[in-house]
Amino acid sequence: MSEPILKTSRVSKSFGGLKAIRDVSFEVAPGEIFGIAGPNGSGKSTLFNIITGIPFGPNAGEVWFKGKRIDGQPAFKIARMGLSRTFQKDAEFPDLSARETLAVSAVFCGGLDRRQAAERSEEAFALVAFAPHRRDMASAGLSVFEKKQLMIASALVSKPDILMLDEPASGLTKPEIQALDTLLRNVNAAGVTILLIEHVLTLLMSVSQRLLILNQGQQLAEGEPRAVMRQPDVIEAYLGK
Ligand code: ADP
Ligand code: MG
Repeated sequence: MSEPILKTSRVSKSFGGLKAIRDVSFEVAPGEIFGIAGPNGSGKSTLFNIITGIPFGPNAGEVWFKGKRIDGQPAFKIARMGLSRTFQKDAEFPDLSARETLAVSAVFCGGLDRRQAAERSEEAFALVAFAPHRRDMASAGLSVFEKKQLMIASALVSKPDILMLDEPASGLTKPEIQALDTLLRNVNAAGVTILLIEHVLTLLMSVSQRLLILNQGQQLAEGEPRAVMRQPDVIEAYLGK
């Protein structure tokens, strides 16, 4: 593999006696869509948390981003280095319009003036193909899919190197999942590396170049998606014993 853009080395995270993540090591190549899957409670969201430092980093192990060690760094610094994420639960501002929501996100990028913030918002809207005539209406009135587009656009205004998405397909219909598939490919084609946690396996298998499977906090398998999903221990983890 070329020099990885992101790398974890034996990261672990415990909550009291519970080992949510145990000795997980993986590398993501620049430009890749890297999928992460595993049963409920297997530690997927916790892995995102410890990479981004929100709310805290790993108890043990190392996280490297663009050749720099980032575990232990404050979350805002990690974000400004170019790592951007969405959360499993959509954080939305129902009273703000889509355009205002992106403006708020742009302000958090720091150092942007109004014109730059507006420019970044336009680029982010275009990248997720957000309908121009819907940009000034209150977010509360947007469709489920438009809210997803807005959530992803918010994560893109900072022009991240890596976009991390936690189950973006949840709540979407089949045609909307197909539209999300296209959206993710477009964002990736624009040069953004993507880490994707997804329980909708059709989407995950369709867009991911490689997959990491977690089970009870440990990495069960990693590699080419079809090969990984054929492994007996992966099938067992999904179907139960
Ligand atoms: P997944 O995203 O794969 O469903 P999570 O990473 O959310 O799994 O959770 C992994 C395990 O860690 C679960 O057993 C969960 O209850 C536990 N966990 C996650 N976050 C916390 C927390 N802040 N405090 C205590 N336990 C947590
Ligand atoms: Mg989760």
